[in-house]
Amino acid sequence: MNILVLNSGSSSLKYQLFDMNTEQVMASGYIEKIGIPGSTITHKRPGIDKIFLEQDIADHGVAIETMVAALTSPEHGVIQSMKEIDAVGHRVVHGGTAFIKACLIDEQAINTLESLTEMAPLHNPAAVKGMRACQEKIPGVPMTVVVDTAFHQTMPRSSYMYGLPYEYYEKYQIRRYGCHGTSHRFVAQRCAELLGRQDCKIITCHLGNGSSLAAIKNGEVQDTSMGFTPLAGVVMGTRTGDFDPSLVPYIMEKENLTPAQMSDLINKKSGLLGLSGVGSDLRDVVEAAKNGNDRAKMALEVFVTTVVRFIGAYAAELNGVDAIVFTAGIGENSVPMRRAICQHLSYLGADFDEEANECAGEEKEISKPGSKTKIYIIPTNEELLIARDTKELVESLKK
Ligand code: ADP
Repeated sequence: MNILVLNSGSSSLKYQLFDMNTEQVMASGYIEKIGIPGSTITHKRPGIDKIFLEQDIADHGVAIETMVAALTSPEHGVIQSMKEIDAVGHRVVHGGTAFIKACLIDEQAINTLESLTEMAPLHNPAAVKGMRACQEKIPGVPMTVVVDTAFHQTMPRSSYMYGLPYEYYEKYQIRRYGCHGTSHRFVAQRCAELLGRQDCKIITCHLGNGSSLAAIKNGEVQDTSMGFTPLAGVVMGTRTGDFDPSLVPYIMEKENLTPAQMSDLINKKSGLLGLSGVGSDLRDVVEAAKNGNDRAKMALEVFVTTVVRFIGAYAAELNGVDAIVFTAGIGENSVPMRRAICQHLSYLGADFDEEANECAGEEKEISKPGSKTKIYIIPTNEELLIARDTKELVESLKK
């Protein structure tokens, strides 16, 4: 069975085609600057060098056509026609409370996603564009939606309710939803396999440009650090993470900012970028800190402290922890950040292994043998999980 996984952004489209008999990627690609001058497509297939083309891509419909042409091209394609694709799985960021697992895309699902645009203004309309383009360009291929917020829907209300007047929950569905759910689910499932049991307490740390943690008990999320939007939680590349909400009106008044400007400030100009003044990419901040930049050093200290704080909070909420997992760009690759975080975990019975930690991008235990609480690096693979969900759903429909 061949499953195509799509991740549509407002001006981009990422695709991966999986052979689900082997779970290997047959081909993948990235289309950028859709509807913007200078559109490009980067297409990869095992055994050939990356292909990079510049061509005008006016909208998501043309992007899907371009992807189809790349996948079926006699020189660098991997299939002869789209008939060889059994289903398409779409990644969607926000599903509100409507999506608790993968589901088939029909008009009702698309309408529901559109109705959630206010909660994910950049992501959901783009995903819908990708779905509409597929309906038009590759009709007849079943499509599923796998939503990033879905995995967090098991949270108890004690975790997802804010201390705001209840009427806002009723009127505007204001509550914690969380993000990166597909990634947390992927690494938590793998961690349970490594532990050899499902009844376990895991804290998953997805640390990337956007970062979030999740507290997971017996495969179900109990709490997660992102909130109504991805702004909440730990300090991120350009997002503040949690801070005193009174500062919103305070800064707006002092600086004479509109709500849109304030939103821009806390989403795009804060975090590692705002603190360090160096940049949002952790590697640049680490480099600057090494060269003696004290603000860069401070930004890293704040990042580490916010992660450590959430791990502590979640260990308490779970009333113990069996394993802590690091994933995503920073979690998988940054030796110094993992070291700095793990130096605060001995009280949990986690015996950190400095030497094992000297690695990047591979699945590995980085606690010492016999450590009561295990620490793992588990590379995330959201696309594979979307492909697995899609396969399962399509197969169940055939029965
Ligand atoms: P997102 O998907 O949220 O854009 P990623 O998961 O790709 O982000 O993570 C990006 C972050 O990971 C950046 O801050 C980057 O500096 C960091 N990162 C990526 N590779 C490495 C590496 N080899 N060493 C240290 N940090 C890395």
